[in-house]
Amino acid sequence: MRPNDQERDPVQGPDPARYPRQHVLPEIGFEGQERLGRSVVALVGCGGLGTAQADLLSRAGVGRLILIDPDVVSLPDLHRQCLYVADDAARNVPKVQAAAARILAIDPRIVTVPIQVGLDSDNASKLLAGADLIMDATDNFAARYRINDAAVQVRKPWVYGGIVGTCGNVMPVLPEVGPCLRCIAPEPPDDRALPNGRTHGVLNAAVSWVAALQVAQALRILLRTPADPPLLHEIDVWRGTLRTIAVRRAEACPCCGLRRFEFLAG
Ligand SMILES: [Zn+2]
Repeated sequence: MRPNDQERDPVQGPDPARYPRQHVLPEIGFEGQERLGRSVVALVGCGGLGTAQADLLSRAGVGRLILIDPDVVSLPDLHRQCLYVADDAARNVPKVQAAAARILAIDPRIVTVPIQVGLDSDNASKLLAGADLIMDATDNFAARYRINDAAVQVRKPWVYGGIVGTCGNVMPVLPEVGPCLRCIAPEPPDDRALPNGRTHGVLNAAVSWVAALQVAQALRILLRTPADPPLLHEIDVWRGTLRTIAVRRAEACPCCGLRRFEFLAG
């Protein structure tokens, strides 16, 4: 994993002059801003959620973003994948390259590490171990159970997010502090039996809301804000509703309890 040529000066970090409104924000402040500049976040997926996350995280001054996605940009992506433009789709540019180019345009001092692969059971822990935090921007539970296993294995927090139609879910996972995905649902749901964006559509405003909630949770974790009691957030942007469900760690969880990583190779 090597940074691309955007890495002009790795010790330079984001320009403090960009952030007067975050400096006065009690939740961030000067010290928090510097901490964000030193932070590394891995984004698993550069589709709707991943591009919205990358836009917010780069503008917030998170210093280094690892972008992981195997796909190229195509025309049906443009209604919800906010970093891409018509020319990216016309040329079928790899998503990680197009996203990195757009982040470079937003802020040349944010370092991106574009990796054009899918996260699988062999590479998951290796790709994610170098991050301080992992963002879920996938669209299936097979991938999320791999992220969950890898994150718990390497003891890194991650933020689950999913969308179908106008609704979405968000849950931050702090290994050894709160519940992991397998504490909530020990076995992965069958993705083929679930509604998904292809069959049930996606409202682009739902993508923005889920990504915004994920990013706020991510910034809290990066800034070491004391954790609230763990919650699963359920939103419906069409109705304008948000529901929170208290969730608990399961001592007998096969993943975070027994440390059996069944969704990783070996
Ligand atoms: Zn667990």
